[in-house]
Amino acid sequence: MSDNKTLLLTSRDQSLKAFLIKKIRENGGWINAHMHADRAFTITTDSFDIYQKQTLIEKWDTLDRLKSSMSEDDYYRHFSMAVERMIEQGVTAAGSFVDIDPIAEERAIRGALKAREAYKKDITIKLINQTLKGVIDKEARYWFDKGADLVDILGGLPRRDERDHGEGMGLKHLDVLMDTGKRLGKMVHVHVDQFNSPDEIETEQVTDKTLEHGMHGKVVAIHSISITAHSLEYRQKLYKKMREAQMMVIACPFAWIDSPRREEQGPTRNSLTPVDELAAAGIPVAIGTDNISDYMLPFSTGNMWEELKLLVTGCRYTDLDNIINVATINGRKALGLA
Ligand SMILES: [Zn+2]
Repeated sequence: MSDNKTLLLTSRDQSLKAFLIKKIRENGGWINAHMHADRAFTITTDSFDIYQKQTLIEKWDTLDRLKSSMSEDDYYRHFSMAVERMIEQGVTAAGSFVDIDPIAEERAIRGALKAREAYKKDITIKLINQTLKGVIDKEARYWFDKGADLVDILGGLPRRDERDHGEGMGLKHLDVLMDTGKRLGKMVHVHVDQFNSPDEIETEQVTDKTLEHGMHGKVVAIHSISITAHSLEYRQKLYKKMREAQMMVIACPFAWIDSPRREEQGPTRNSLTPVDELAAAGIPVAIGTDNISDYMLPFSTGNMWEELKLLVTGCRYTDLDNIINVATINGRKALGLA
């Protein structure tokens, strides 16, 4: 039983939010480990109408129209808007995916490099190539290879090649990422298990590929939500393997909280990265905002506190020391800065 005195508020007591914000500042500031700054603030009321009617996979095509209309200056401006939002919150480092593909060509990365240079005294930015067109198609591969030389970290989206080229091609996508990462000595960040569905085992696939290619400690899974759609026995086996591969995970809580209701059976769950289980298994979890006010996340403003609040509330996660790590040091690890 607590002493009654500890339950009484005094004027010196801090709220949990004030305590965490102070600790995050003392530990080097917020780290936004995953965003797509190049497309930030591109949603309008007109395009919102399209957003309402499309699934994620349909949106990949809609995005092409927007991207083809953006110049290098447009990309610079939108990237800078996202960076400004980060600096004003006390974010000291961020990892941003940037579209480098047949549609955006080099315009987005050129704009991003210019913005990074402009803000270099205020924030450290790691750039990561978004492989929205996959890496299997010949033209997409050309842009992947070109992008791989320009960025700090290689980015992946195996689901794209699985959709376009058929079963097993997501694994091939991972082979291309790992081979290129090894050759260039770069880390790999991969979007996986986004649909909160037992049909997905992408976190396990990326872990297996990490072990197979000897990329231990160099690979980061983004989202990994569908882990929670599987049984406890599966999850425990997966965590063991992830620890062996020294995997890290980035949670982007708002990104998939809108996951549609399903009629599938499975463990009762929300649509969040299971930070509670992953942390207990010794797997570092970092946090990111993902998309900011664009087709994917029209209402998201890139607010780090909102993201952290949703993650810890949704997972009933109460380990305050590790919550501070999620917001700070784990992000630096995931970006190769620690
Ligand atoms: Zn993303």
